Amino acid sequence: MKNALITGITGQDGSYLAELLLQKGYKVYGLRRRTSTPNYENVEHIRKEIEWISGDLTDLASLIQAVQISMPDEVYNLAAQSFVETSWPQPLLTGQITALGVTNMLEAVRMARPYAKFYQASSSEMFGKVVETPQTEVTPFYPRSPYGVSKAYGHWITVNYRESFDMFASSGILFNHESPRRGVEFVSRKVTDAVARIKLGMQNELRMGNLDAKRDWGYAGDFVKAMWLMLQQDTPDDFVISTGELHTVRELLDVAFSYVDLNYMDYVVMDPKFIRPAEVDLLLGDCTKAKLTLGWKQEVSFTKMIQMMVEADIKRVEWELRTKLIPVI
Ligand code: NDP
Ligand code: GDP
Repeated sequence: MKNALITGITGQDGSYLAELLLQKGYKVYGLRRRTSTPNYENVEHIRKEIEWISGDLTDLASLIQAVQISMPDEVYNLAAQSFVETSWPQPLLTGQITALGVTNMLEAVRMARPYAKFYQASSSEMFGKVVETPQTEVTPFYPRSPYGVSKAYGHWITVNYRESFDMFASSGILFNHESPRRGVEFVSRKVTDAVARIKLGMQNELRMGNLDAKRDWGYAGDFVKAMWLMLQQDTPDDFVISTGELHTVRELLDVAFSYVDLNYMDYVVMDPKFIRPAEVDLLLGDCTKAKLTLGWKQEVSFTKMIQMMVEADIKRVEWELRTKLIPVI
């Protein structure tokens, strides 16, 4: 039986990856930071199957202990301050977790379990103000937010540990991927949550930022399979994971609202509060390398994924209404 250590296991990707590894017969250790109230929502259904270790990406001692306890064959470093918008008001925290936290995790592995395979969650946000389209593994980075800058650091330090210490350290440059477990401040979930609330009469408008932004949106359940595949290779490397399809925020709105027979134009209000200091206008990935080397492919389409998210949010809002947990706006 293989041991895997996942940081960021309570987040969207961590929860899908944990499911996948459990199905494959791994013993899964999850690093979880202490919170005042429980945050097991995404992993409640598998909570008892996971060995929980308390730790924080900014605390090297806790990471060394986590590696010593779990003795992992594979380490998946998914923890991050992952929301671009928050990275402007909290640039130092973002740097400490999303950038230096990667060095902490790499150091912990190097000290306590140097032969473990290491996966770093890099991001298409590193491409930022893109210098070419589509973006590949060799496209230069031009990050546009403290988050993107931090991810670029995390990416290069992973490459550097691979080259300096001969560690098996791979980096997945993942384009945006969503699911019913996506944080509600990200545009996809914000929209599908609002669609549910509007449909059920709990909300009457949706305040949004730049509707012309274009993204290459995939499904998180598909993308975590690529993470696992990267660590099953004989040699470490970097891979772009994307769908190769471009959609605007406007199209996302249209798919989500029209699924419940509503017109987004009747509800969406532009709010300058959601316009970013520096925008990433377009991200489109070319994942030919992953297709050829890993045999990875996307299974869930953009439309199917958004519809799945709307359905899940409707179910959740209905449940919250029944149990009277939801405030009426
Ligand atoms: P989430 O925001 O859903 O999850 C982030 C996870 O990191 C949570 O479990 C969170 O814990 C944990 N975390 C945050 N800070 C710390 C810390 N200081 N110490 C330990 N754990 C911490 O992100 P996703 O699942 O969407 O993304 C996973 C990774 O992939 C992230 O690194 C993200 O930046 C990257 N990525 C994501 C993309 C996407 O489209 N989803 C695209 C490209 C890269 P808690 O529950 O306590 O907050
Ligand atoms: P990101 O690509 O990691 O920043 O993912 P997000 O889901 O947060 O944002 C995707 C795009 O949607 C960005 O270009 C945002 O500017 C745009 N967007 C437009 N309106 C909103 C909004 O209300 N919230 C968020 N989060 N993004 C928005």
